[in-house]
Amino acid sequence: MAEAFAAVEIIAAKRDKGELTDPQIDWVIDAYTRGAVADEQMSALLMAILLNGMNSREISRWTDAMIRSGERMEWSAVKRTTVDKHSTGGVGDKITLPLAPLVAACGGAVPQLSGRGLGHTGGTLDKLESIPGWRASLSNEEMLKVLQDCGAVICAAGAGLAPADKKLYALRDVTATVEAIPLIASSIMSKKIAEGTSALILDVKTGNGAFMSDPLKARELAQVMVELGERAGVKTRALITAMDVPLGLTAGNALEVRESVEVLAGGGPSDVVELTVLLAREMLDAGKIKPLMDPADALMNGAAMDHWRRMILAQGGDPDAALPVAKEKIVVNAESSGEIIEMNAMKVGVSAWRLGAGRSRQGEKVQAGAGIEIHAKPGQEIKAGQPLFTLHTDEAARFERALEVLDGAVRISSTGEKVERLPLILEKIER
Ligand code: URA
Repeated sequence: MAEAFAAVEIIAAKRDKGELTDPQIDWVIDAYTRGAVADEQMSALLMAILLNGMNSREISRWTDAMIRSGERMEWSAVKRTTVDKHSTGGVGDKITLPLAPLVAACGGAVPQLSGRGLGHTGGTLDKLESIPGWRASLSNEEMLKVLQDCGAVICAAGAGLAPADKKLYALRDVTATVEAIPLIASSIMSKKIAEGTSALILDVKTGNGAFMSDPLKARELAQVMVELGERAGVKTRALITAMDVPLGLTAGNALEVRESVEVLAGGGPSDVVELTVLLAREMLDAGKIKPLMDPADALMNGAAMDHWRRMILAQGGDPDAALPVAKEKIVVNAESSGEIIEMNAMKVGVSAWRLGAGRSRQGEKVQAGAGIEIHAKPGQEIKAGQPLFTLHTDEAARFERALEVLDGAVRISSTGEKVERLPLILEKIER
């Protein structure tokens, strides 16, 4: 069959700062997904988009074409309103783990199709896979059953969900075209819209440990994604939140599961608790769900923990099993006394990654026990020689490079200098 367009003409149009038409966008996404547009042609088009941008009509159509490349999930059999959260990713960002069962305990249904970590930010599935027996891959029937029985399901997105994004994301990764707002927004939102949630809260991170370190860029990304969601009929809001300092006191798979369980048991670090409760309230509100109880109460009275245990059990996990512990650990002590002024999230994230908590190539195995425990955060006083971090790994040879990147990650001052931190929530964006 003759093709409707020639890829080279579409590339030239965007190279010359033109607008792509709806039929051109529909064709190029479809043709690329079925292999009729070559990787080198799509690479050139992606670079032209990165350099010359797309207007809101083009972004919306591009997203829609990506959704139409695969299946759309459908949850009409679920009696409750579906509501989800997506984070653009950060260091120590384990919020999805306590949040999904928490919102379920309060009356929502959370279909959370997640990904794995790549680079310095961790992936939800990698974290949950540190629980003995837990299984990330479910059939659509299994997903529905877990969602109906437990109020929340966290699992891997199947191959049928936005297959265009799977190909495009892998190509962007190796062609320096990840950092384009139209491409990031369409990639995230095509998956979230195809997932079939009726309301969505976006946690757009900013600060040195985030994908969008510049708050103005984070805001632009949030605005584009909110617009895409609303146009597709998904009630969408975004919170711009701080990622200049790691979230909580752990970065690494099993370490973050342990901290999440502490939060579900009514304890845990205050920043993780605060953000979890805030996002839960936003999700319930965006979904117009009358809460069965306030999220803060559901953490204290065991209701959220109950839902967590059911959700883990339903996917083959043992919520009572001991979590994996790394074979080797070393403690890093403070070199001077004073107040901690800064703790660079990116450096802590890269260090945890080098310890084996993350992967540098798709498909690589991660270490369940690897990562970093943080013993003191900005705003706290510390004395020289007191522990600042504990580093965990199964391979002692990894310590050297993990320590190298931590050099300069923490600044301690005894001169009364003010702590410079972003507020936990910078801004809320809704239409
Ligand atoms: N996450 C995604 O799913 N896609 C992007 O482009 C960036 C982050």
